[in-house]
Amino acid sequence: MNAGNLIDFFNQFASEAKCAEFIAQQRWGNEIICPKCGVVGIKAYKLASGRLKCAECRKPFTVRMGTIFEDSMIPLQKWLLAIYLCTSLKKGISSIQLARYLNVTQKTSWFMLQRIRYVFESGTFEKLKDAVEMDEAYIGGKDNNKHATKRTKYLTGKGAQGFGSKNSKTPVVGMVERGGSLHAVVTSDTGSATLMGLVRKHIDIDATVYTDEHMPYRTLPKIGYKHESVNHGVKEFVNGMASTNTAESFWSHLKRGINGIYHHVSPKHLQKYCDEYSYRWNTREMNDGERFEEWFANFNGKRLTYKTLTKKA
Ligand SMILES: [Zn+2]
Repeated sequence: MNAGNLIDFFNQFASEAKCAEFIAQQRWGNEIICPKCGVVGIKAYKLASGRLKCAECRKPFTVRMGTIFEDSMIPLQKWLLAIYLCTSLKKGISSIQLARYLNVTQKTSWFMLQRIRYVFESGTFEKLKDAVEMDEAYIGGKDNNKHATKRTKYLTGKGAQGFGSKNSKTPVVGMVERGGSLHAVVTSDTGSATLMGLVRKHIDIDATVYTDEHMPYRTLPKIGYKHESVNHGVKEFVNGMASTNTAESFWSHLKRGINGIYHHVSPKHLQKYCDEYSYRWNTREMNDGERFEEWFANFNGKRLTYKTLTKKA
């Protein structure tokens, strides 16, 4: 897609065939892999039905097979528009709004959005390096209605008791390389073992990690990381380089979005919303068309059925 506005979108994806062509190009480039027999670079014949037929195993297949579009009756144009809206709108789009735009039921649009979000979760990533801010936030729940003393019980950093219950907030740990990428991970607690596990997995050992004074971060030097902290309690927001401002601007954006657009997100699904917000944050330098295409870099082979999605965690 060119500049990537809605006019470009409808010009490019004017028909179902054009949508299928685009998806095939994103998926396979010039080397089609048969989803039935796995042979690479096959010659595929186009059948009258619009389906493809493998020259090797002689079986018919479609561009949807083995992707999140498989088993869906939704026209590809609606799928692509949903992906476009979900990747380009700064705060995302609610299933209610998407249902209206696409003329589908809310159950369908909710499922579509969950599938689209599933692709945001990138399978591989590079470790964050140089100056990395690390900070935790507590999202969702109905803690605001609780007595203050009861509320703080969940926020002690010793783990959110009642994780998974809809009345408690869910901890999310954010790690962001200044001028680079952001990773946001939903956790069951924000104790030392959990946080240091995330550090090792997401942050390069040569990085300097900037945090607030949350106790467990004091373990950072013990596992080999350079560590600088800032004390929020005394409004010491900028201790030289030691701010967590980048992480905090992401939290406020995420919280505003979740409160304003999605209202309530269950802990079970929170990671997908974090992935959606991280994706847009990490592609902030791209235009809407580029951000839309980038989504397809991850979609290959990802499939999510309604059964998997709604099963009890
Ligand atoms: Zn085949």
